[in-house]
Amino acid sequence: MSDRQRSLFETDPAPWEVDDRAQQAVATIVFSEGPQGEFDYLIPPEFREADNGEQMLEPGRRVEVPLGRGNRRITGYCVAVELKSSGRRLKQVLAVLDPARLLSSAMLRLARWMADYYICPLGQVLDGIIPAGVRHQAGTREVKLLSVPTQVLAQMTKLKLPKKQAEVLQLLATSAKPLTATQVAAQAECTVGPVNSLRKKGLVEESVVRVASGSSSIGPNTVARQVPHDLSDDQTVALERVLGAMHAREHQTLLIHGVTGSGKTEIYIRAMEEAVSFGRQAIVLVPEISLTPQTVARFRARFDRVAILHSHLSDVERHQHWGRIARGEVEVVVGARSAVFAPVPHLGMIILDEEHESTFKQEVAPRYHARDVARWRAREEGVPLVLGSATPSLESWQQAQVGEFQLVEMPRRVLARALPTVNTIDLRLQEHSRHSRGSISRPLAQAIQTSLHDGGQVILMLNRRGYSTHIQCPQCGGVVICPHCDMSLTFHRQTNSAICHYCEYEITAPSECPDCKFGGIRYSGLGTQKLEDEVAARFPDYVCVRMDTDTMRRPGSHQAALTAFREGEAQILLGTQMIAKGLDFPNVTLVGVINADTALHLPDFRAAERTFQLVTQVAGRTGRGEKGGQVVVQTFSPDHPAIVAATRHDYEAFTQHELPAREFAKYPPFTSLVRIVFRGEDEQITGLVAEEYTKSLSRIAEAHDEEIRVRGPAPAPFAKLRGCYRFHLQMQSTNVAAIRQIVFEVAAEVKLPDKVTWTIDVDPVDML
Ligand code: ADP
Ligand code: ZN
Repeated sequence: MSDRQRSLFETDPAPWEVDDRAQQAVATIVFSEGPQGEFDYLIPPEFREADNGEQMLEPGRRVEVPLGRGNRRITGYCVAVELKSSGRRLKQVLAVLDPARLLSSAMLRLARWMADYYICPLGQVLDGIIPAGVRHQAGTREVKLLSVPTQVLAQMTKLKLPKKQAEVLQLLATSAKPLTATQVAAQAECTVGPVNSLRKKGLVEESVVRVASGSSSIGPNTVARQVPHDLSDDQTVALERVLGAMHAREHQTLLIHGVTGSGKTEIYIRAMEEAVSFGRQAIVLVPEISLTPQTVARFRARFDRVAILHSHLSDVERHQHWGRIARGEVEVVVGARSAVFAPVPHLGMIILDEEHESTFKQEVAPRYHARDVARWRAREEGVPLVLGSATPSLESWQQAQVGEFQLVEMPRRVLARALPTVNTIDLRLQEHSRHSRGSISRPLAQAIQTSLHDGGQVILMLNRRGYSTHIQCPQCGGVVICPHCDMSLTFHRQTNSAICHYCEYEITAPSECPDCKFGGIRYSGLGTQKLEDEVAARFPDYVCVRMDTDTMRRPGSHQAALTAFREGEAQILLGTQMIAKGLDFPNVTLVGVINADTALHLPDFRAAERTFQLVTQVAGRTGRGEKGGQVVVQTFSPDHPAIVAATRHDYEAFTQHELPAREFAKYPPFTSLVRIVFRGEDEQITGLVAEEYTKSLSRIAEAHDEEIRVRGPAPAPFAKLRGCYRFHLQMQSTNVAAIRQIVFEVAAEVKLPDKVTWTIDVDPVDML
């Protein structure tokens, strides 16, 4: 314990403090805000009784304790209870807040592992695991119930009381159920005044209980039951592998590498049915974007009791789901990343669909990756973890190569459907062509025309929202940028505004250059809104729906757009990467990628991998029905290995090109990475602090046995965001534990000035 922490406790002994040599019942408490570290508090007798259920203090419940010299009342998590002689005078726990444990012992161990692995205070990890709705007991309220103590009851006839008070007391003494003050007052036809007087005299006692407010908003499962498909040969083999792992009763991680449309979901469902038949529960993690009604309906059609945890849930709904899950009332939990913490009592298996998706990584503390948390949990509980993807992350692929994960290949689509043919259009040549105008090349326009004419539907992807992606003055060359982020502003036509996509800063779209006042300021760079206009102009006989974060702000709009497309009311679906994944529309006969290069040249070692994944995934949206399908990819880099491999649906070719490059540069999956970002409003101070830290880290790293490479510091690719300058450094080593230890050492040694903050990201996904 550091000196700072100790000083919080060494205050003058208060009368209630106990002798410090005897064995005492001690609770270890951590805080999510306030001081870091673990603190011991004495458990007073009333919180030790096992028969005092609601009040008994055990790990996994929250408490209120006094903190610091002022004995400020603060909420903390109890993480351990033990008998010990602490040798110090301890303060006492003041109150136990939760009527039951919020976390099992296994989940507490998981939290400890996360705190250690991700270098994050345990209290913050616990806040990240337990939804706010659960912590605040959303959907319940406290009521104060009145009762008459027995010694008062015995003497009631002897009491001399004003008339109303006597009436109220009589009512309470004879009532069949406990009443609140308002209820008694209503029955006695008086104000709460007499009730309060009785309470002050000690003739009436009050106790606080929590009751549910309102009714449950979780309805019954109304989706019609579906008859399962007969499995394809690939599916049969894959299912056998998963079931084999389940019956082996020890943990295994299986990586299902199945091309788009190979029928992975059917395998998940069959495997879960097996787990459920043994009275166990299954957790399915999907990217938030895939929580479409279509996916959800597939699970609802096969299980009776499904909990869907999506981001539009209210706190109350989340709390209700948590309760049902913890009581074992749910068979299957489907949700985004945080569903990995679902408190199922008998876990049977965990499934991560689209395991390569970057949304499985949380970008605020605790910065965990759901795949790694799922792995820890599955291992701890001795159950299989199933990862599925058409484009596995190189991290998982490498684990399969070295035998840590079991690889299951599904190279064919179901019903012997072919993967679509992909044609690339070289935009460099198109630029010079007199025949193309706008952003849709002539060959792509022809393909769209043909598909629509034949009654098919078309998906067009452009991974940039807004109308024009930058606004530049041709006279002085100035680009209109965000004053807080230094990023170019995007023009949005509906609102006639220029918006920063990083901080939402917004101004009226300028008609002249803000610097030199030149009137011919130019709007350029293509966004989805402009593409939508172009599509409407060129294909006026067809309906186009657009899907991007701008159109999807209202809950339900996602569903409305997809329904219109599925029902054939719209023939063209246009959008950002959110339309690239998971959708299964058999009538889509053409997919067009407007610009495959948008992510290719970002300063991120995963840029090629992301591009490969995105193009492969969006290509997989077609050819899912009897009509077949084709893909047209427009690119300025038709020879780039990631694009070549994607157009051939050749995952292994991509890995054969990319893995040696990663190994050479000592990047994951061959090393582990820790990234530290320093942020501050003063550019110079922030840079100096980053410099100083890096020096300390390098010095300690050099003295270390393991080879640890420290890179940086340098301005981050996004060098300024929301008014803060950003510098970053990276540490690379094959031994992530060694890096973490060094970071701990430096953190203890170097003190950060108030004006600079840092974030530590273990296994970072965001490199910008
Ligand atoms: P993936 O997730 O591998 O891309 P899906 O699980 O979405 O593939 O399956 C693609 C489509 O094939 C879905 O419409 C699904 O209902 C259907 N399907 C799955 N398995 C079979 C099967 N054995 N026979 C016929 N159709 C199937
Ligand atoms: Zn901004």
